[in-house]
Amino acid sequence: MSIENNIHATQKQMRDAATTSNRNLEEVHLIAVTKSVSPEIAQEVVQQGIFHLAENRPEKLIEKQESLTDERIKWHYIGSLQTRKVKQVIQRIDYFHALDRLSLAQEIDKRADKVIPCFVQVNVSGEEQKHGIAPADLIAFIHELEAFPKIQVIGLMTMAPNTTDETVIRTTFAGLKKLQQQVETLHLPSAPCHELSMGMSHDFVIAIEEGATFVRVGTKLFATNS
Ligand SMILES: *Cc1c(COP(=O)(O)O)cnc(C)c1O
Repeated sequence: MSIENNIHATQKQMRDAATTSNRNLEEVHLIAVTKSVSPEIAQEVVQQGIFHLAENRPEKLIEKQESLTDERIKWHYIGSLQTRKVKQVIQRIDYFHALDRLSLAQEIDKRADKVIPCFVQVNVSGEEQKHGIAPADLIAFIHELEAFPKIQVIGLMTMAPNTTDETVIRTTFAGLKKLQQQVETLHLPSAPCHELSMGMSHDFVIAIEEGATFVRVGTKLFATNS
Protein backbone atom coordinates (compact mmCIF):
# COMPACT_ATOMS: atom_id res chain seq x y z
CA MET A 1 0.00 0.00 0.00
CA SER A 2 1.24 3.47 -0.87
CA ILE A 3 0.63 6.48 1.32
CA GLU A 4 -1.86 7.68 -1.25
CA ASN A 5 -3.77 4.40 -0.92
CA ASN A 6 -3.60 4.58 2.86
CA ILE A 7 -5.09 8.07 2.79
CA HIS A 8 -7.90 6.97 0.51
CA ALA A 9 -8.65 3.93 2.69
CA THR A 10 -8.67 6.11 5.81
CA GLN A 11 -10.91 8.71 4.21
CA LYS A 12 -13.33 5.99 3.14
CA GLN A 13 -13.51 4.67 6.70
CA MET A 14 -14.09 8.22 7.92
CA ARG A 15 -16.92 8.67 5.42
CA ASP A 16 -18.49 5.36 6.38
CA ALA A 17 -18.26 6.15 10.10
CA ALA A 18 -19.89 9.54 9.53
CA THR A 19 -22.68 7.92 7.54
CA THR A 20 -23.24 5.20 10.15
CA SER A 21 -23.56 7.77 12.90
CA ASN A 22 -25.54 10.29 10.87
CA ARG A 23 -22.86 12.91 11.09
CA ASN A 24 -21.62 15.51 8.65
CA LEU A 25 -18.17 14.46 7.43
CA GLU A 26 -17.19 18.11 7.12
CA GLU A 27 -17.02 18.44 10.88
CA VAL A 28 -14.41 15.64 11.15
CA HIS A 29 -10.80 16.60 10.45
CA LEU A 30 -8.00 14.17 9.72
CA ILE A 31 -4.73 15.03 11.44
CA ALA A 32 -1.73 13.19 10.02
CA VAL A 33 0.58 12.31 12.89
CA THR A 34 4.00 12.61 11.30
CA LYS A 35 6.09 12.00 14.44
CA SER A 36 7.64 8.77 13.20
CA VAL A 37 8.37 9.71 9.59
CA SER A 38 10.88 11.92 7.78
CA PRO A 39 9.96 15.37 6.44
CA GLU A 40 10.09 13.88 2.91
CA ILE A 41 7.46 11.28 3.79
CA ALA A 42 5.36 13.87 5.60
CA GLN A 43 5.46 15.95 2.43
CA GLU A 44 3.57 13.17 0.65
CA VAL A 45 0.46 13.64 2.78
CA VAL A 46 0.60 17.37 2.17
CA GLN A 47 0.71 16.68 -1.57
CA GLN A 48 -2.42 14.58 -1.09
CA GLY A 49 -4.19 17.57 0.39
CA ILE A 50 -3.90 16.75 4.10
CA PHE A 51 -2.98 20.01 5.80
CA HIS A 52 -3.38 19.13 9.48
CA LEU A 53 -0.06 17.72 10.73
CA ALA A 54 0.86 16.71 14.28
CA GLU A 55 4.14 16.26 16.12
CA ASN A 56 4.90 15.35 19.74
CA ARG A 57 8.51 16.50 20.23
CA PRO A 58 9.80 20.08 19.95
CA GLU A 59 12.88 19.12 17.91
CA LYS A 60 10.82 17.08 15.45
CA LEU A 61 8.30 19.86 15.04
CA ILE A 62 11.05 22.33 14.23
CA GLU A 63 12.71 19.90 11.80
CA LYS A 64 9.42 19.35 9.95
CA GLN A 65 8.63 23.03 9.78
CA GLU A 66 12.01 23.80 8.27
CA SER A 67 11.29 21.62 5.26
CA LEU A 68 7.50 21.77 5.01
CA THR A 69 6.71 25.34 4.18
CA ASP A 70 3.27 25.14 2.58
CA GLU A 71 1.32 27.91 4.25
CA ARG A 72 -1.87 25.87 4.28
CA ILE A 73 -0.39 23.50 6.87
CA LYS A 74 -1.89 23.67 10.37
CA TRP A 75 0.52 22.44 13.01
CA HIS A 76 -0.80 20.46 15.96
CA TYR A 77 1.24 19.64 19.06
CA ILE A 78 -0.04 16.40 20.58
CA GLY A 79 2.57 15.29 23.11
CA SER A 80 2.94 15.99 26.77
CA LEU A 81 5.06 19.13 26.96
CA GLN A 82 7.55 20.05 29.66
CA THR A 83 6.93 23.54 30.96
CA ARG A 84 10.48 24.62 30.16
CA LYS A 85 9.98 23.66 26.49
CA VAL A 86 6.87 25.77 25.97
CA LYS A 87 8.82 28.70 24.61
CA GLN A 88 10.38 26.51 21.88
CA VAL A 89 7.06 25.45 20.42
CA ILE A 90 4.24 27.76 21.34
CA GLN A 91 4.79 30.37 18.61
CA ARG A 92 5.06 27.62 16.03
CA ILE A 93 1.77 25.84 16.47
CA ASP A 94 -1.85 26.34 15.52
CA TYR A 95 -3.37 23.88 18.02
CA PHE A 96 -2.21 22.44 21.32
CA HIS A 97 -3.76 19.11 22.34
CA ALA A 98 -2.19 18.37 25.69
CA LEU A 99 -3.19 21.02 28.19
CA ASP A 100 -3.23 19.08 31.45
CA ARG A 101 -2.03 21.34 34.25
CA LEU A 102 -2.15 24.90 35.46
CA SER A 103 1.62 25.47 35.42
CA LEU A 104 1.57 24.67 31.70
CA ALA A 105 -1.30 27.10 31.07
CA GLN A 106 0.57 29.77 32.94
CA GLU A 107 3.70 29.27 30.86
CA ILE A 108 1.75 29.23 27.58
CA ASP A 109 0.02 32.43 28.60
CA LYS A 110 3.38 34.02 29.35
CA ARG A 111 5.15 32.89 26.16
CA ALA A 112 2.48 33.11 23.47
CA ASP A 113 1.91 36.33 21.60
CA LYS A 114 -1.47 35.28 20.27
CA VAL A 115 -4.39 33.27 21.57
CA ILE A 116 -3.65 29.53 21.35
CA PRO A 117 -6.52 27.16 20.52
CA CYS A 118 -6.13 24.40 23.11
CA PHE A 119 -7.62 21.02 23.89
CA VAL A 120 -7.70 20.07 27.55
CA GLN A 121 -6.45 16.50 27.85
CA VAL A 122 -8.70 14.39 30.03
CA ASN A 123 -7.84 11.00 31.48
CA VAL A 124 -11.31 9.57 30.96
CA SER A 125 -10.31 5.94 31.44
CA GLY A 126 -8.47 6.69 34.69
CA GLU A 127 -5.42 4.62 33.79
CA GLU A 128 -2.57 5.55 36.08
CA GLN A 129 0.09 5.95 33.42
CA LYS A 130 -2.04 8.32 31.35
CA HIS A 131 -1.69 12.08 31.33
CA GLY A 132 -4.71 14.28 31.67
CA ILE A 133 -7.10 15.94 34.07
CA ALA A 134 -9.40 13.61 36.01
CA PRO A 135 -13.02 13.98 34.85
CA ALA A 136 -14.07 15.04 38.36
CA ASP A 137 -11.59 17.93 38.28
CA LEU A 138 -12.36 19.16 34.77
CA ILE A 139 -14.93 21.88 35.44
CA ALA A 140 -12.84 23.47 38.18
CA PHE A 141 -9.80 23.36 35.86
CA ILE A 142 -11.76 25.02 33.05
CA HIS A 143 -12.72 27.82 35.42
CA GLU A 144 -9.12 28.24 36.56
CA LEU A 145 -8.06 28.64 32.93
CA GLU A 146 -10.23 31.74 32.66
CA ALA A 147 -7.33 33.62 34.27
CA PHE A 148 -5.16 33.11 31.16
CA PRO A 149 -6.20 35.28 28.20
CA LYS A 150 -3.98 33.43 25.68
CA ILE A 151 -5.66 30.10 26.41
CA GLN A 152 -8.76 29.33 24.37
CA VAL A 153 -10.26 25.96 25.23
CA ILE A 154 -11.68 24.89 21.89
CA GLY A 155 -12.24 21.30 22.96
CA LEU A 156 -11.21 18.21 24.89
CA MET A 157 -8.75 15.46 24.00
CA THR A 158 -8.33 11.91 25.23
CA MET A 159 -6.64 8.63 24.44
CA ALA A 160 -8.60 5.42 24.85
CA PRO A 161 -7.03 2.44 26.61
CA ASN A 162 -4.91 0.27 24.35
CA THR A 163 -7.30 -2.66 24.14
CA THR A 164 -9.25 -4.62 21.57
CA ASP A 165 -12.36 -4.37 23.76
CA GLU A 166 -14.53 -2.09 21.68
CA THR A 167 -16.92 -1.41 24.56
CA VAL A 168 -14.13 0.03 26.70
CA ILE A 169 -12.99 2.27 23.85
CA ARG A 170 -16.52 3.41 23.04
CA THR A 171 -17.29 4.16 26.69
CA THR A 172 -14.14 6.28 26.95
CA PHE A 173 -15.01 8.35 23.88
CA ALA A 174 -18.66 8.73 24.92
CA GLY A 175 -17.43 9.89 28.32
CA LEU A 176 -15.30 12.61 26.73
CA LYS A 177 -18.26 13.75 24.63
CA LYS A 178 -20.40 14.07 27.75
CA LEU A 179 -17.72 16.17 29.45
CA GLN A 180 -17.36 18.36 26.35
CA GLN A 181 -21.10 19.07 26.42
CA GLN A 182 -20.90 19.99 30.10
CA VAL A 183 -18.14 22.50 29.42
CA GLU A 184 -19.94 23.85 26.36
CA THR A 185 -23.05 24.64 28.42
CA LEU A 186 -21.02 26.84 30.77
CA HIS A 187 -20.83 29.31 27.83
CA LEU A 188 -17.50 30.68 28.94
CA PRO A 189 -15.86 33.01 26.40
CA SER A 190 -12.54 31.35 27.26
CA ALA A 191 -13.90 27.85 26.63
CA PRO A 192 -16.30 27.45 23.72
CA CYS A 193 -15.29 23.76 23.73
CA HIS A 194 -17.03 22.57 20.56
CA GLU A 195 -14.30 20.14 19.50
CA LEU A 196 -13.32 16.58 20.39
CA SER A 197 -9.80 15.32 19.62
CA MET A 198 -10.04 11.55 19.89
CA GLY A 199 -9.28 8.45 17.86
CA MET A 200 -5.99 7.04 16.54
CA SER A 201 -5.16 4.44 13.87
CA HIS A 202 -6.88 1.53 15.58
CA ASP A 203 -9.90 3.32 17.03
CA PHE A 204 -10.72 6.40 14.93
CA VAL A 205 -13.85 4.82 13.45
CA ILE A 206 -15.32 4.35 16.92
CA ALA A 207 -14.21 7.88 17.83
CA ILE A 208 -16.05 9.37 14.86
CA GLU A 209 -19.16 7.39 15.72
CA GLU A 210 -18.92 8.88 19.22
CA GLY A 211 -18.47 12.46 18.05
CA ALA A 212 -14.79 13.12 17.27
CA THR A 213 -14.11 16.30 15.28
CA PHE A 214 -10.35 15.72 15.03
CA VAL A 215 -8.85 12.25 14.63
CA ARG A 216 -5.09 11.80 15.03
CA VAL A 217 -3.81 9.11 12.69
CA GLY A 218 -0.19 8.03 12.21
CA THR A 219 0.56 4.36 11.64
CA LYS A 220 -2.38 3.75 9.36
CA LEU A 221 -1.25 6.48 6.94
CA PHE A 222 2.45 5.72 6.94
CA ALA A 223 2.71 1.93 7.14
CA THR A 224 3.47 0.99 3.55
CA ASN A 225 4.63 -2.59 3.80
CA SER A 226 1.62 -4.27 5.35
C1 LIG B 1 1.32 8.77 18.13
C2 LIG B 1 0.05 9.40 18.53
C3 LIG B 1 -1.10 9.27 17.72
C4 LIG B 1 -1.14 8.42 16.45
O1 LIG B 1 -1.08 7.07 16.78
P1 LIG B 1 -1.21 5.94 15.65
O2 LIG B 1 -1.58 4.73 16.41
O3 LIG B 1 0.13 5.85 15.01
O4 LIG B 1 -2.26 6.37 14.71
C5 LIG B 1 -2.25 9.93 18.14
N1 LIG B 1 -2.27 10.67 19.26
C6 LIG B 1 -1.21 10.81 20.06
C7 LIG B 1 -1.32 11.63 21.30
C8 LIG B 1 -0.01 10.17 19.72
O5 LIG B 1 1.06 10.32 20.52
